[in-house]
Amino acid sequence: MKVHQHISLKPYNTFGMDVPAEYFLELDNESLLPGISADILLPKEKKVLGGGSNVLLTKPVSGLILLNRIKGIEKTKEDDAHVWLRVQAGEVWHELVMYAIAHGWAGIENLALIPGTVGAAPMQNIGAYGVEVKQTIEHVTAWHWEEEEFITYSNEECRFGYRDSIFKQELKNKVFINAVTFRLNKKPDFNTSYGAIEQELQKMGVADLSIKAIADAVIAIRSSKLPDPKKIGNAGSFFKNPTILFSQYQSLQAVHPAMPSYAVDAQHVKIPAGWLIEQCGWKGFRRGDAGVHEKQALVLVNYEHSNGIEIWELSTEIIASVEERYGIILEREVQVW
Ligand code: FAD
Ligand code: NAP
Repeated sequence: MKVHQHISLKPYNTFGMDVPAEYFLELDNESLLPGISADILLPKEKKVLGGGSNVLLTKPVSGLILLNRIKGIEKTKEDDAHVWLRVQAGEVWHELVMYAIAHGWAGIENLALIPGTVGAAPMQNIGAYGVEVKQTIEHVTAWHWEEEEFITYSNEECRFGYRDSIFKQELKNKVFINAVTFRLNKKPDFNTSYGAIEQELQKMGVADLSIKAIADAVIAIRSSKLPDPKKIGNAGSFFKNPTILFSQYQSLQAVHPAMPSYAVDAQHVKIPAGWLIEQCGWKGFRRGDAGVHEKQALVLVNYEHSNGIEIWELSTEIIASVEERYGIILEREVQVW
């Protein structure tokens, strides 16, 4: 276990921001957490980094960065209908999806190709193509830096919401999620409610639906639409899709008849933030090396030498222009450090 000082975080964040960490430690075993917690020579301020695919680094990071590389998958329970997996937090999310599919265990196939680690998945309740990870999480265990103990949070206690959880709110930077226990289904309950999946499956000529076919369709769509962080720095969707009152939507639609929406509940609708940003003329915008992706306006990109401040300023301008035109305030999804 070696603590580094003033190391560049460029290889550890998908935006590719060249920002130093004051202290940096790669962790590969959950049993080391109590010792790190008790070590008075280490900074009290601690942050966890997984794949760095949902952070924007705007300045040198003070305190200790813990790079989570704790690996291991264990089947802890099984019955006729389900299997329970305790997955350590440093496992790569997409590899877990592939592992589940190879065993015929369903529930997370729509979440294929989401970058990052298993430990970060509960943080924002990752979601895509009509599925959210909360649907398969039994509980989450985490080391609490102040309580100095491992705590188990039931699904309900995680307070999952749309791209949200207790870990993004009250427990932000207060815990290290060390493992997630999933309950996967032996009998799949296919979710192809997203039009894009149906279209892709047809294009692929799939006759017999399977979890592998769904994952293949999702992988094909994502690969064609989203920028690969290895080629262009980005952190996926920079903003959340806003949820507004249906009455507000009706007023807006009277002026902007093409505005798309998806029902959330009886009173609320979700508006695709990418559409709002595109309508304000930002799609494909570039200033220096900071820009808005040409195929997906929800994704801000670092073409090479941009920095966190420039991306932050661009996001602020986008928020202002969407608010001015539609009266809707976009919220950043990415964690800004
Ligand atoms: P990091 O970026 O390393 O961390 C994100 C936040 O979580 C930080 O605040 C960090 O401190 C905290 N954190 C990470 N690990 C832990 C831990 N073990 N304990 C406590 N806190 C922790 N997201 C979606 O929801 N759906 C998508 O479809 C999607 N698509 C994407 C596509 C692309 C191309 C990219 C670049 C990103 C996409 N994302 C998507 C966002 C991102 O992949 C997810 O949010 C992912 O879960 C982040 O994982 P990470 O390990 O990279 O987290
Ligand atoms: P898209 O298909 O162009 O649709 C735009 C938005 O409309 C999506 O964000 C989605 O909201 C909503 N939407 C579309 N069809 C829907 C339906 N049938 N029911 C409910 N909502 C619907 O989206 P995209 O950008 O290509 O992304 C596809 C999926 O991958 C989405 O689920 C998206 O969240 C996810 N994704 C997430 C990230 C990230 O970083 N968070 C990055 C890339 C892709 P939702 O986002 O609420 O699903």
